[in-house]
Amino acid sequence: MRSLLVLIDGLGDDPIPALQGRTPFEYASHPVMDGVAATGGLGQISICEQDIVPESCSCILRLLGVDKRDMPQNRAYLELLAHGRDISEYEMVLRCNLAAVDASGRLAGFNAPGLTVAQMQEAAALGDGVLKDIEFIHLSEYRNLLIMNKETAVLDCAVRPPHESVGEAVDELLEPLRRTSLSLNYFLSETNKRLANFAHDGLHYILYPWGPSARQKLPSFASLHGITGGAVCKAEIVVGIARALGMEVVIPHGATGDVDTDLGAKAEAALELLQRQDFVLAHFNGSDEASHRYDFAAKADFIASIDQHFLQPLAGRLNEPVRVVICGDHVTSSLTGKHGYGCTPVVAGYLRADLLGATNRWKPQSYNQILNFLMKESD
Ligand SMILES: [Zn+2]
Repeated sequence: MRSLLVLIDGLGDDPIPALQGRTPFEYASHPVMDGVAATGGLGQISICEQDIVPESCSCILRLLGVDKRDMPQNRAYLELLAHGRDISEYEMVLRCNLAAVDASGRLAGFNAPGLTVAQMQEAAALGDGVLKDIEFIHLSEYRNLLIMNKETAVLDCAVRPPHESVGEAVDELLEPLRRTSLSLNYFLSETNKRLANFAHDGLHYILYPWGPSARQKLPSFASLHGITGGAVCKAEIVVGIARALGMEVVIPHGATGDVDTDLGAKAEAALELLQRQDFVLAHFNGSDEASHRYDFAAKADFIASIDQHFLQPLAGRLNEPVRVVICGDHVTSSLTGKHGYGCTPVVAGYLRADLLGATNRWKPQSYNQILNFLMKESD
């Protein structure tokens, strides 16, 4: 029997006072998910437990059966793969934010506040060609990557992520990187000069490299599980993970990585992929984005829409039973806007269970049980 993992990013949440103390998942109407739970069960599980960080990268790798020791140090390498590039073992890749600095030299924003998307693109172009051994790749908006020769000291260098460092002195934040690498020191000084023209209203802009990542060979999905796998996704990190595991990746037209994604197109793509692959991952990123915006109502709406516009049409067109797990990867709290270590709802059971005999009720209690159910259970 084929299996489907419906991954609703950041599905775990806090009880929301404005939702009468319910989480967005508890508040949302999701009859198809309830139907799946009735053929198996509903549990609350922490995917990251206490041993990995509550981030999509590590938690999704875990849900795909990758051992902790094979997880990459930082996600830049996987984002590079998502972008259709790879590096050699002699190179490394860093994330590089276009960030804003205030008049007192403190980080005023990690995502280039005050610039339009076109200006961000223009600014990113200035990062290119600074040094011939640094390749600069513009991803989108404030997000860029740097490829350079591998310097072990840089890989070991603890540069604070810009999104966790707003309000802190930029010179101090980047000092370890400047001290460790001559090339990066030159790159930072030169790009500071080149970006001077974008300064306005007491803000100036810098390129902020962080999160260095070396090439990492991941085991293939097929070698891990003895079955084939595909993914329907848009979020860069998930595209990168799926490519790194050698899974077939489908990015449907109209997928956005946010709550306005085309759920019908995703259902179509998942159905098609289920014809060719034993296992399909369908990833939905909008729930995590809504929580980061403290928008619990949009998160609840998105969960209900996944039920109505993804699961319902999918179930309606399946002509055989499919094993399915619907869960999150980590908590994203709509109260704090941050990721957390707590539990995510996990629904496990079948679509088109009417074509099956009796099914067993069980309560998912660990990520290993999810993996066993999806990848190993024989029919
Ligand atoms: Zn997130």
